[in-house]
This record gives sequence, C-alpha cells and structure tokens, in this order.
Amino acid sequence: MKYLPKGACLALPLQLFRGNNSRPILRASVFRAGVLGEAQLKQRTIAEKISCTGIGLHSGTPVQMTLHPARANSGITFVRYDLSYPVEIPVNTASVVSTEYATTVGRGDVTVSTVEHLLAAAYGMGIDNLRVEINAPEVPIMDGSAAPFVHLIRAAGIFEQPQRRQEFRVRRPIEVRDGEKWIRVSPSRSLSVSYSIDFEHASIGRQELNRLEINDETFDRKISRARTFGFAYEVEAMRAAGLARGGSLDNAIVLDNDGILNEEGLRFPNEFVAHKVLDLLGDLSILGMRIRGHVQVHRGGHDLHCKLLAAIVEAHREGAVLDAMELESMNSRVPIPTLA
Ligand SMILES: [Zn+2]
Repeated sequence: MKYLPKGACLALPLQLFRGNNSRPILRASVFRAGVLGEAQLKQRTIAEKISCTGIGLHSGTPVQMTLHPARANSGITFVRYDLSYPVEIPVNTASVVSTEYATTVGRGDVTVSTVEHLLAAAYGMGIDNLRVEINAPEVPIMDGSAAPFVHLIRAAGIFEQPQRRQEFRVRRPIEVRDGEKWIRVSPSRSLSVSYSIDFEHASIGRQELNRLEINDETFDRKISRARTFGFAYEVEAMRAAGLARGGSLDNAIVLDNDGILNEEGLRFPNEFVAHKVLDLLGDLSILGMRIRGHVQVHRGGHDLHCKLLAAIVEAHREGAVLDAMELESMNSRVPIPTLA
C-alpha cells in the first residue's frame, strides 16, 4: 500500500511577515568561512521579528511561529502563547524532556517538540540568541529540512551584538557507546563532523560524511536542505498511536520495502546522512554555546546526541575537559554559562 499520496497533506505555503523596526543587518561577506575572524566571535540574533505558518508533524494542524530578536547571553527561548498565560522554555540540557522520534524541550507540563530543525538552522546561521513564540506544542515541520528556517532567518536579517560569543574547546575525547552505536567528540580547532549510518535498506545502505567543517557556507550548501526520513511501516505505527498526522511526502522522505516513495526522489545522493548531521547540529546547539571539536557519530540519533551533551556537562562539572575560551583573555566579565 502506498503511504499518503502526494498532496494529501495540509501543508500551507510559507508565509513571511517581517517586522518594522530597522536594525543594522550584517552583510553576507561577514559569514565567509575559514579563519575565525573578529565577527565570528560576536554573538548574533536576528535583526527583525519574522513569522511563518506551517503544520505540526504530529497534530496535522496549522502552527503559527514568530522569531524575535533576543538580548545577548539569553540563548534560545521558546514561548508557548496558546495557553492561559505565556510559558517560557529556555533551551538547555536540563529542558530536554524527550528524544523519541524528535527532540522535545519542556518546562513543567508545557512542551515544544521537533525543535531540532529550527535549532540546526539557528546554529548553522550563527544565531546565538532568539525568542521563538509559538501557538502549539510543536515546531512546524515545513518541508522536513532546515532550509525554510534558514530562509526565514535570512529574510529577517542577522544582527551582530557587541558581546562576545562563548565557545568551549574540548581538551580530551569524550565518548558515549550504546551497543553498536557510538558518538565521540575530540579536540579540534573548529567544529567538524564525521557521521556514518548503516541501514539494511537498498535505498540507504551505508552513507558517511567525513570531517565536514561546519560553517554557514557548508551548512547552507550541504546540510540545510536534507529532509527527515522514515519508513512507511513506522509512520503507520506512529499514526496508530495518534502521532504523525501531519506527515506526508511533502515533509519527509518516506521509504517502503521497495524504495523511496517520493516521486521526485532525493535532493542529493547522501541526503540521509546529511539529515543526520542536521539533527546533530540542532541537538548540539542545546548546549547553548559553540563547540570546538571533531564530533564523530556512528548510527546516531537524538537519544545518542543528547547522551553526548550529558557527558559533556558531566565532564564540565569535573572541570577536567573543557576550557572556556576567551573568558579570561577576552571577556572576563561574562560568567561561564550554566550548562544544566
Ligand atoms: Zn530531523
């Protein structure tokens, strides 16, 4: 049986509403990859508020989301405004409440799920501080990739803040193993990612990305457009559990035993592993700071990614592994951020 014919979903066109305040916007030249320049040491937020409408992957109903600029050192905060009073959920390792199917953050009983593609876009675009107002318990799925959010952030413009960004450098490898799966971060001058997946499915098989330097340019070109993927039988099971009502061939690559159901096929040959890297970057951003290190993952997922975050927080508590760059030499007034 074919799963969800194309066009059967409630996908709404991306609608953009720009704010009116006119803040200075960084030129694209600031984002050139390569040597860590002065501009890359500064925190960034967006220049203007901007909104979009999409559907929730699980609810299948429209979700309205507005990104607002946020003050320096505030990080990323979701605000649920559909409740009797607004509830703020700061994104940090303590606010992760679930890593099943997607990454969910919460405060008390109030949650926002499927945050990882938006967080990946923010990380990839170098956005440190953002206020995300949302009227539903999930970020809209859009096309299943981070590209619509990259487009949204670009349309809002990027505002550089005077405060320096905080980055942590890994001094010795930290590794988490879970059966055949493993994840490791080791010392490196900049953030790079190696990722391998191995599926017993002819359309996926073994795919790997080897030591990809992560910067705005590589993120945009090689990662941001990679869509989430799933198997038709999994989606059927999720639907039976009341989930994935908004899932369709417009917002995921769906596979059955014979191959890929999407008529248009893949956007690029290694789209599956590229999406895994996208998810990883979204999950890494939950630390609230940039990591300088080489992250290697084999057969990972949100659960493993978040276990690495927990291991990093633990190592940080022990004081033996991480080094707060810049704090003494460049900006001693800024305290080391709390990781949990
Ligand atoms: Zn994903």
